[in-house]
Amino acid sequence: MARYTGPVCRLCRRSGTKLMLKGERCATFKCPLEKKAAPSRRRFGPRRKLSDRGMQLREKQKARYTYGILERQFRRFFARAERSPGITGDNLLQLLESRLDNVVYRLGFADSRSQARQIVRHGHITVNRHKVNIPSYLIKPGDIIAWKGKSQESELYRKILQDIEGKVIPGWLSLEGGNLSGRVLTLPTPSEIEAKFDVKVIVEYYSR
Ligand code: SF4
Repeated sequence: MARYTGPVCRLCRRSGTKLMLKGERCATFKCPLEKKAAPSRRRFGPRRKLSDRGMQLREKQKARYTYGILERQFRRFFARAERSPGITGDNLLQLLESRLDNVVYRLGFADSRSQARQIVRHGHITVNRHKVNIPSYLIKPGDIIAWKGKSQESELYRKILQDIEGKVIPGWLSLEGGNLSGRVLTLPTPSEIEAKFDVKVIVEYYSR
């Protein structure tokens, strides 16, 4: 199945919530969800109430859209979370947050997860000094995530370096030095992850 390449704001509309898929733009008045409901919607009234199954599906889709991953890969993450000791929902959340593209985004090296994925795919990122161009690569505590030496000469790197001041880095990560390098201190706990979806409902979805 191909990756979704249509307008990402449509995914937020479909989910009925701001999934923050476009970086800075999402926090401005340019976000379509900040504007009033479209006239056509007002004319036809609110959408019909979702069934329990529909709500579960919606939560699962929100998680998929947030991390930009396909259904098959999401199922694999869920199966792995289920096999791991502990609470399945918490394991799932931790696995999703541990993806390299997400960590690049959380470190402030990219404005959105989709930009982070592109940065990783283009080979700009190293993990423990080795180039890794797999967005789904799972990081571990102690890993050092940095920009590849040659990539530090790019215009993109200079822009990110300028913009990184003022960005909030989660407590499980730390920024080191002045050259966009970060360390994974620990894996995130559920309370440290600001999720736009209810992971318990996703577990119910797959448990049927
Ligand atoms: Fe678009 Fe971002 Fe608003 Fe979502 S939150 S609708 S991606 S601008």
